[in-house]
Amino acid sequence: MKALQLTGWKQLPQFQEVATPEPGPGEVLVRIGAAGACHSDLHLFHDFEPGALPYELPFTLGHENAGVVEAFGAGVTGLDTGQPVVVYGPWGCGRCYPCVQGVENYCERQAEIGAAGGGLGRDGGMAPFMIVPAARYLVPLTDLDPVEAAPLTDAGLTPYHAIRRALPVLVPGATAVVIGAGGGLGHLAVQILRAVSSCRVIGVDTRDSGLELARRLGAHDAVMSGPDAEDEIRELTRGRGAEAVFDFVGIDPTMALGAAVVRPQGHLTVLGIGGGTLPISFFSIPYEVAVSTTYWGTIPELFEVIALAERGDITPVVHRYPLDDALDAYEAMRSGALEGRAVIVPEA
Ligand SMILES: [Zn+2]
Ligand SMILES: [Zn+2]
Repeated sequence: MKALQLTGWKQLPQFQEVATPEPGPGEVLVRIGAAGACHSDLHLFHDFEPGALPYELPFTLGHENAGVVEAFGAGVTGLDTGQPVVVYGPWGCGRCYPCVQGVENYCERQAEIGAAGGGLGRDGGMAPFMIVPAARYLVPLTDLDPVEAAPLTDAGLTPYHAIRRALPVLVPGATAVVIGAGGGLGHLAVQILRAVSSCRVIGVDTRDSGLELARRLGAHDAVMSGPDAEDEIRELTRGRGAEAVFDFVGIDPTMALGAAVVRPQGHLTVLGIGGGTLPISFFSIPYEVAVSTTYWGTIPELFEVIALAERGDITPVVHRYPLDDALDAYEAMRSGALEGRAVIVPEA
């Protein structure tokens, strides 16, 4: 079968002909319906020297995957072939304390394991089939189209996890700011906030089209990123600022904006891996602001995200690309031309 693989560091991925995998004991073979193209893959292609990441090359890309159960190996029970599923992305050891809670994104043995999951050191979903190492990574779908479901496993799950942590401050009357509101994760963050809280949502983006998308998906206000954004957010909140800021960009100016508009006792969560830094000193941010990064989410949270999507509360905006055109999808993302999520469809 044809697979889009990372074959070397500091270079674009390549199409390779590889053997169709067969599931071993405990493993599940998933026929891929769709694989999301994630902005973090661009960092994977360009930002790492050989040896910087504990991944062995080559491996098939695609860490946002949905499809149907094609076959499974010995010892797998409670699954039927033909069952539509999404694949939970970060694969831990399954036995440490975080893992047994479903928090495999923070597995304690990650350093020993090396690869972070399918598409991140092990073979992912940018191919007609992928092996999932354990049935616990599969969340069943009922009505959702795999093309709309695939982005939920990362572009949906990652903001959901961050928003869930901030829910105690997102009370009625509170404000949440989403920086990068037109992007793959940001456009889902806007919808998740509207679905799980009654807070006011302000979207921030660098593009008019991104602001328009944020508004269409439920943002109460949309603010152009730039020197005036801080004042505009202050004005919209009658000078109070925001209880929670979710920064899906993570560069110096966006982190500075977050620190400038977050309220005392608020949450400032950085999810974008733009490489920015935020200096922290006693007087540099309001009192009791929790500044944190987050990485992906948990297995139970993926069930919750799928439940939100199955009942129609959140819907990814997707652009379909056949597998042959996957590199065009990454280029569209790199150039900033893409809103929502690019999804690779192997059999399109
Ligand atoms: Zn990702
Ligand atoms: Zn573990």
